Amino acid sequence: MRWTPRASAFWNSFCEGLASLAYPPKCALCGVAGLPPICGECRTVLPAADRMEDLGDGLLVWAAFRYGGRAAQAVKRLKYERATSLGRPMAELLAASWRRSGLPDPHAVVPVPIHFLRRCSRGFNQSDLLADGFERGLVRPELLRRVRPTRPQVGLSREQRSRNLLGAFRASPAVAGLSVLLVDDVLTGGFTMRECARTLLEAGAANVAGLVFCVEEPANSG
Ligand SMILES: [Zn+2]
Repeated sequence: MRWTPRASAFWNSFCEGLASLAYPPKCALCGVAGLPPICGECRTVLPAADRMEDLGDGLLVWAAFRYGGRAAQAVKRLKYERATSLGRPMAELLAASWRRSGLPDPHAVVPVPIHFLRRCSRGFNQSDLLADGFERGLVRPELLRRVRPTRPQVGLSREQRSRNLLGAFRASPAVAGLSVLLVDDVLTGGFTMRECARTLLEAGAANVAGLVFCVEEPANSG
């Protein structure tokens, strides 16, 4: 067979066929084989929130789901079990929820950054994947960096949590005058969102809002 585009397409689909025999597609949440990363059944039981959280000082955060059931499972699978196939469908669900917020589109969508060392060990930043439902040109991860590694927030008091994050982020001067939408996986006490927003506003951002996949209830711990 000569190497024509048709032969190449045949070869590609042959390889895909082999791959799906070796790793049959399955829902990453309920595990049923032959279904997409989030199957229809799991989508219907995701605990929708679609509501605004007011973190004070003018910082509003839109939450797509409540942290529980399949939504919490999706976040944990993505983050700790590296089920990156969940990234795309979760990003699409998040962007669809944002459109229901009725808020104006931002100039820039900025995923909450993780430190370089954590990125190396995890291999990806889950917030980058979650921001993928927005237009490519709108997503600007370079506008905010995590310049200092921080301890996990779990198990720290409120005061320790605030102190833990102080000075952990640095914003690019290019953020001046822009309205920014910060994207994160889970909103717990809002400390991370507040510190990111403070850093962006100090660098001249016109305004900052947040968008999270899940909100923990009550929103009081990290
Ligand atoms: Zn499922």
